[in-house]
Amino acid sequence: MLEATNLFFTRAADHLELPDKLRTVLLTPRRVVRVEIVTESDEGELMHHLGYRVQHNTIRGPMKGGLRFHPSMDEDHAASLASLMTWKTAVVDIPYGGAKGGINCDPSKLSDQELYRITTRFVELMKEVIGPTIDIPAPDVNTNAQIMGWIMDEYTKFYGFNPAVVTGKPVDLFGSLGREEATGRGVMYSLEEYLKNDGRKLSDVSVAIQGFGNVGSNAARLIAEQGGRIVAVSDISGGIANDQGIDIPALLDWIGEHRVVEGFPGADAIDGAAVLTCKADVLIPAALEDAITVDNASQIQAEVVVEAANGPTTPEAHDLLHQRGITVIPDILANAGGVTVSYFEWSQNIQQFRWELERVNRELEVIMRRAYGSVAQLAADDGLDMRTAAFVLAIKRVARAAASRQNVRHLLPTGLLE
Ligand code: NAD
Repeated sequence: MLEATNLFFTRAADHLELPDKLRTVLLTPRRVVRVEIVTESDEGELMHHLGYRVQHNTIRGPMKGGLRFHPSMDEDHAASLASLMTWKTAVVDIPYGGAKGGINCDPSKLSDQELYRITTRFVELMKEVIGPTIDIPAPDVNTNAQIMGWIMDEYTKFYGFNPAVVTGKPVDLFGSLGREEATGRGVMYSLEEYLKNDGRKLSDVSVAIQGFGNVGSNAARLIAEQGGRIVAVSDISGGIANDQGIDIPALLDWIGEHRVVEGFPGADAIDGAAVLTCKADVLIPAALEDAITVDNASQIQAEVVVEAANGPTTPEAHDLLHQRGITVIPDILANAGGVTVSYFEWSQNIQQFRWELERVNRELEVIMRRAYGSVAQLAADDGLDMRTAAFVLAIKRVARAAASRQNVRHLLPTGLLE
């Protein structure tokens, strides 16, 4: 996965004619931490997991990025996702660098008590390298507000009251209103901006969504509320489709009871993989990385792919989609709503002042629409695809910040500071 992120970076670096040494500096993480998490299962058995945190870049501020609990979590994933966070926070121009981490565990096989013990042990082992002005974790795949609450509590045991150490907390525990749905809301704004180009609205399009967790389900709900027709959805259990549009509130009720989309009575069961290639105007991958590959990119029927997940498209598939005239709104733009509202949460925690939901959503909207406009403008001006344009914008911002805080201006190509 890191290879793909580095390749996307390299395309932008080529466009900017960045010297090799500067590429190395911008690609190399500042710090890589791996910890061994030994805990006891409910049955008294020994449990062994590995925890990771890759801290990529601090030039624009403290590092920020999610925690993923997944059996596939490893240093390669953390490094790739941490680098994406550096570029993402720069694209939306919020004052952070990038980090990412997680634990190689499968929460579906753990009791709440086991998950609690693993999480708090992870915090105990990582406590020196995280903190409100160092590195601020947040939810990602298989982590949620409850887990963020545990992290805050454990950190507090060592350093005192510090809600700004982690974002995505429960609203009852210094979380921000609107954080839970923020990534999905940002995805909706990105799609809306794309459709505006030729005078269309969300109510004019049909949408297929892979992944129905935090991001996928909130994107589906918000797009459907604006009249968008969600025609297919998948999760780990398989896919469902209904050409007339799936009743999303009913599906959310179903999920509340059954946890997965399988068996939902208001749609036909289809193969999970078929959701990616079904007939829909818009495809939103909102599950894991490498969903769109050379094997399925030639069959995708959508005119636009909005990357709600991180790294869902391999470089080869990206090129194939580009050749086929399919627009890809890249992850570092499309899913930046989550980290943006995490920034609002952190700001509220530091100020000890709560924002109204209306303010959270209004400021998120401004940031997302402005970022989309900047990327689209750069893409048009320089003849780039949206992903390369987003990386170019981000690299320029990181370089400008570096030039402003360190005596490195003479080492940077002039084009980078324009
Ligand atoms: P989640 O754990 O809440 O949901 C993941 C969903 O993907 C689940 O519905 C799961 O069943 C589904 N899934 C897993 N494998 C699948 C497969 N092979 N086919 C179809 N569905 C599959 O995670 P999330 O927080 O919604 O994150 C989803 C993606 O969005 C990740 O790539 C994450 O990095 C990215 N992201 C999340 C946030 C956030 O705020 N949570 C922010 C930015 C980006």
